[in-house]
Amino acid sequence: MLRKAQTPAIDGWYKIGKKPQLIGSQCKKCQTYFFPKNDRECRNPRCSSTEFSETSLSREGRIWSYTNACYQPPAPYIVDNSFIPFAIAAVELEVEKLIVLGQVATGTDVDSLAIGMQVELVIEPLHETEDEVKMIWKWRPKDL
Ligand SMILES: [Zn+2]
Repeated sequence: MLRKAQTPAIDGWYKIGKKPQLIGSQCKKCQTYFFPKNDRECRNPRCSSTEFSETSLSREGRIWSYTNACYQPPAPYIVDNSFIPFAIAAVELEVEKLIVLGQVATGTDVDSLAIGMQVELVIEPLHETEDEVKMIWKWRPKDL
C-alpha cells in the first residue's frame, strides 16, 4: 500500500520530521524573536529595524496559559465536520521569550494540563488530501 507523503499544512512555518521545529525570525537589531516569521518591520515599539534572520525556535517550552476550545477553530485548524473539542496552549519559549499558540497533542486530557508544565513540539496530521497528509504542529506535555 502506498503511504501518502507528509507535508506541512502551512509552508515555511515549521519543519516536520523526527525533530520538528517552528521557524521564526529574529530582529538583527534588537534580537526580538517572532513567530510566525516577521520580515517587514520590527514590532518592538522601540525598534524600527527591517532586517531579520530566519531561525529555528526551541522545541520545548512551558505552558503559560491554556484553554479548552469547544468551538470550531479558525484556519489552519479547519478540518471537516467531525470537529471534536481540543485544548489550545500558549507556550512560552524560554530562550526566545516568545509565546507560541498551538493545539495540544491528540489524546491529552485538558484536565491534566497545568500552568508551567513542560511541553515539546510534535507534528500531527491535520487533514488528508488525495495524495498528501497535511501536518500541523502541536504541544505535547513531557511528563504525562
Ligand atoms: Zn527589532
